[in-house]
Amino acid sequence: MIELGSSSGAANGERRLWNIIWKARVPQKIRIFAWRAATQSLAVQVNRVKHHQTTIGLCSICGVEDESVFHALVSCPKARALRLAVREVWNLLDEVVFNFTGPNWLLVLLDQVRPPVHEQIIFMFWRAWHLRNDLIFGKGKEKMSDSVRFIQNYWTSFSSCHPNVKMEISIKGKERVDGLNFTNDMRKNLVTWQAPATEIIKTNVDASYVEALRAASVGVVARNHTGEVIISSWDYIGVCNSAEEAELRATLAGLYIGITLHKAIILETDCSFVASFLRNDLLDRSPLVDLKIEALNLAKMMINCKISKINRTANRVAHEIAKFSFDNRSDGVLLNSVPPCVADFVTDDCMNILS
Ligand SMILES: [Zn+2]
Repeated sequence: MIELGSSSGAANGERRLWNIIWKARVPQKIRIFAWRAATQSLAVQVNRVKHHQTTIGLCSICGVEDESVFHALVSCPKARALRLAVREVWNLLDEVVFNFTGPNWLLVLLDQVRPPVHEQIIFMFWRAWHLRNDLIFGKGKEKMSDSVRFIQNYWTSFSSCHPNVKMEISIKGKERVDGLNFTNDMRKNLVTWQAPATEIIKTNVDASYVEALRAASVGVVARNHTGEVIISSWDYIGVCNSAEEAELRATLAGLYIGITLHKAIILETDCSFVASFLRNDLLDRSPLVDLKIEALNLAKMMINCKISKINRTANRVAHEIAKFSFDNRSDGVLLNSVPPCVADFVTDDCMNILS
């Protein structure tokens, strides 16, 4: 288990919080959701008022009180109804723990529960958020019983696929990528992936976005100076409004992985929009401004993080991981390795750095 720095103050508190969430054995996208919930950064009405995106803070589902993160996930009648239904199948804690204890309510809540309830609560909140979005932006036709079935199935399939995934990262591993061949590379002239300097981790990110479906997935791979994979991660995001949003979400996924590595990071994207969007400090009214704020806040928690724009051809591994995620509608995380169908691309990159 890696200690995420020992600096004092807010950043340290944020790292402690991130550790609690990172330990949860849930897909990366759900972990990211939990992080947003815990840092009060979900796009609830009160936050939209803060960012001048609306003037009405009232919950548009129940109209009873302002929609804070706590309201949306815990006290709104819709969220309560889901919790009630989930209680039929999972042994959730007593209703009294779902109390507002202050801005850190989620941290306080997660701190007092053990796995698997810890994860189940995160799954349930994630689905409550989905139901809320479905009511506001979608058709609002999702049935509560379907939601319960969905989280149960998702939970079962995720925990059976990842029985041994430890959410702990070793960056001391000495193993090289399997199947490495030392041959002359014919494509040296192309722009290829470059290994980072010693002690620096390079994180490549990419998104798959399908316009016709307005859906996306993201892929992340982090490698060291020898080209060895430290971690790979992929998430099927589902609904996504633009290619730019998809690329930005891929970058966020890369930053979230970066926080856990406790090393200087070079994050590479082949999307020039993301590189330029994050380079300036302007917080305009772009629909992507919340994601930008999130990215800038995450970067502050890291030792040193540089984002750079690279050529597509140097980003094949991340591209293939995102594509794999989209094709299979799958989420996952692998320590020291990548999905099998992507292994050849990792080998290609290694041959490039060795030749
Ligand atoms: Zn409400």
